[in-house]
Amino acid sequence: MLIPNRHYAELKESYLFARIAEKTKAYLAEYPGKRLLRMGIGDVSQPLCPAVITALHAAVEEQAAKETFHGYLPECGAPFLREAVAKHYESRGVTLSPEEVFVSSGASDELGHLLDLFAPENPALIPEPAYPAYADASVLAGRRIVFLPTTPEEDFLPSPARAEEGELVYLCSPNNPTGAVLDRARLKAWVDWASRRGAVILFDAAYEAFIADEALPHSIFEIEGARECAVEICSLSKTAGFTGTRLGYTIIPRELRRGGMSLNAMWVRNRTTKSNGVSYILQRGGEAVFTPEGQTQVRQTLRIYQDNAKVMASALDRLGIRYTGGRNAPYLWLECPRGYSSWEFFDLLLRRIQVVGTPGEGFGESGEGWFRFSAFGSPEDTREAMTRLQELLG
Ligand code: PLP
Repeated sequence: MLIPNRHYAELKESYLFARIAEKTKAYLAEYPGKRLLRMGIGDVSQPLCPAVITALHAAVEEQAAKETFHGYLPECGAPFLREAVAKHYESRGVTLSPEEVFVSSGASDELGHLLDLFAPENPALIPEPAYPAYADASVLAGRRIVFLPTTPEEDFLPSPARAEEGELVYLCSPNNPTGAVLDRARLKAWVDWASRRGAVILFDAAYEAFIADEALPHSIFEIEGARECAVEICSLSKTAGFTGTRLGYTIIPRELRRGGMSLNAMWVRNRTTKSNGVSYILQRGGEAVFTPEGQTQVRQTLRIYQDNAKVMASALDRLGIRYTGGRNAPYLWLECPRGYSSWEFFDLLLRRIQVVGTPGEGFGESGEGWFRFSAFGSPEDTREAMTRLQELLG
């Protein structure tokens, strides 16, 4: 009899978004016709930019003619996109070879697949509150997890000073859900810690495009020593609206070796075995993001979300509510006022002002008492939600 992967039975029920959906559905059944302002979503609301759309159309046309048609592409990514990404890093002072850039179908897929590189005996170290997929992917791989709770006193920024074990370290900056961003000194401390232990950092940079402060690093490879201890996982989802189109990239430096093995070479072997690459059409669309025209356009879209974040931040400032994020991140992580638990606060906002946010408890135990607002909604809804919030709590 076949034995299934029993670790599936160890997964905690993925209840956060299901419970939010259930509660909003029940509310709408009770009050039909009420319009909800959704401030909890992690999905984007703005479409792909014109440069990307033009490139996608052109690539579709190429696939229609015998002379320009593309069949299978190199499994690790089309050279034109790997080069475009490497040049983009160069513009920020990080030198990469295109062979260190792997094109992916998005960060989520990659965060799961990459675990193939590491033996399951290595415990994962996950700072909390965290994007729930980190823990779930580790559970499925049969990996032990050590959580590192972060606190409001340290602005939810994880520090290696309190880390005692863990060979596979998840760092997410700007962070989902807290919006906290690791500065150079903190990131350097993690790089040094990982190098000393022989650990590997999985650096999730899905929200790097939201960093506006010049002094903050977009990439872990801006930090000395990171090429020997880090893998960077990036996504065009939030940067350029690819959530439904699916495209990302991962950086694995050549110097990254463990147990005498090159992780870059191992990943080439993995991809050539388990993947036939990402669609030619999408990779052309991705390439357009890195053109000057594409960069100008994606920045215009990002500005809409950044302005939403400002609207939310000033509403919270006026209300005197403590929060992190919002400045270099699309998330605002706020302390539930008046001692509400995160689900009580969710119910209050839903029932009294028809605003839907995300209870912090869904991101781990240390998220209890906190709440996430996202800047990805429409500007109109964001403004209206904040007006209602001020009327409710002001
Ligand atoms: N990493 C973090 C921290 C995220 O919040 C998300 C999506 O919300 C992802 C990765 C997934 O990104 P992608 O759409 O590229 O799979």
